[in-house]
Amino acid sequence: MDLPKPIKDFVQVFSQLPGIGPRQATRLAFWLLHQKRETQHAFYRAFTNLFTKTQICPSCFFISEKESTGSKLCKICRQKQRDQSLICVVEKETDLISIENTNKYRGLYHVLGGLMSELNENKKQKLNINQLLTRIKKVSKTPQKIKEIILALNPTSEGNLTTYTLEKAIKELNLDIKITKLGRGLPQGGEVEFADAETLVNALEGRK
Ligand SMILES: [Zn+2]
Repeated sequence: MDLPKPIKDFVQVFSQLPGIGPRQATRLAFWLLHQKRETQHAFYRAFTNLFTKTQICPSCFFISEKESTGSKLCKICRQKQRDQSLICVVEKETDLISIENTNKYRGLYHVLGGLMSELNENKKQKLNINQLLTRIKKVSKTPQKIKEIILALNPTSEGNLTTYTLEKAIKELNLDIKITKLGRGLPQGGEVEFADAETLVNALEGRK
């Protein structure tokens, strides 16, 4: 059946969302149309704010709220009491949130923005790998120094490939930095994001 164009357009855009197909997007469109004006506006505002009131931290690439002070750094990078000599490299923002929620990690982060893939060389170009290397080099020129980089990537084939590549690249910097990986506990093929706090704490504390 030929849907009205605004609905068709909505479905086309929303079915790009992870886990949402055209049928669910169509259902969402009708559900939204049946809501009160107030609810519809709340959705509209949530979308607009998501895109206009956030910014990407130029240091760790985590997303934060735009600051009225004009500060570009995220809240985590701005916390001076955090251990600046420790960087935990994660695949994506939700992994960072899972580790942060354990309340056990007091260092900084670096969000890669994805993992490398043997099948798709282009994926590597989109990751914040060079930015990580530049960051390490830059800090190493200051008295601050980075002592340890934790590669907290998923123990999947893509995660392992990325870990291997990063380890090699960081070693080539010749900077006397300890490189560690999450310890046992995370199941093979498991994901950092979905690991429970206890497992994550064990994996972090057992890093080697
Ligand atoms: Zn940051």
